[in-house]
Amino acid sequence: MSLDRRRRGIIFILSAPSGAGKTTISRAALQRIGGLEPSISLTTRTPRGGETDGIDYRFVSDEEFRRIRDAGELAESAQVFDAHYGTPRGPLERAVAEGRDILLDIDIQGARQIRRCYPSDTATIFVLPPSFGELEQRLRGRGTEDEAAIQRRLKRARSEAEAWNEYDYLIINARIEDSIVQLDAIVAAERMRAARLGPELEPWRS
Ligand code: 5GP
Repeated sequence: MSLDRRRRGIIFILSAPSGAGKTTISRAALQRIGGLEPSISLTTRTPRGGETDGIDYRFVSDEEFRRIRDAGELAESAQVFDAHYGTPRGPLERAVAEGRDILLDIDIQGARQIRRCYPSDTATIFVLPPSFGELEQRLRGRGTEDEAAIQRRLKRARSEAEAWNEYDYLIINARIEDSIVQLDAIVAAERMRAARLGPELEPWRS
């Protein structure tokens, strides 16, 4: 077994008010940062154009979601607007035990639950847009929702932005390229934390 395999996997949590550019960052991160795997969330919302079941989300009915959650198979779950979201527990815990790093793109409620459950395996990152005006522009530019839905998202985004200081790291997403570089640096630093590498140093102690 290589030394690197002996540390536990890290759960990287990326949260942001909607419209901050988090999905773009997490997609790019998964492609460009080595050794980072996605977690496929369950959701009860309907797929948007271009989304694929089993890749972007596992799209399930309310009944199926409830059954899976009540069976204890979710590491966290939350309601966002009218839909339920949840992170499957099995794949997450297997990854951590096997030393594989996972990127969770989840909301603040979910982030709190994961941090509480796996405190020493978690690193949390919050993404903010450079300004609220920018956020509004991005939400409208997406063109996937009607005015009422946009207003709801804006209201929620404002209150979500206040949670930034619960997180370990903050990325102000002005330029996507810069944000990826910053996320890459965070991932690299977390992988080098002495507390995580302790077990690897065992052979040096004797
Ligand atoms: P969207 O519907 O736009 O894809 O996601 C809405 C919000 O739900 C985003 O903030 C996203 O990060 C969050 N979300 C996606 N999957 C999960 C999940 O498994 N758990 C939680 N708690 N939030 C999630």
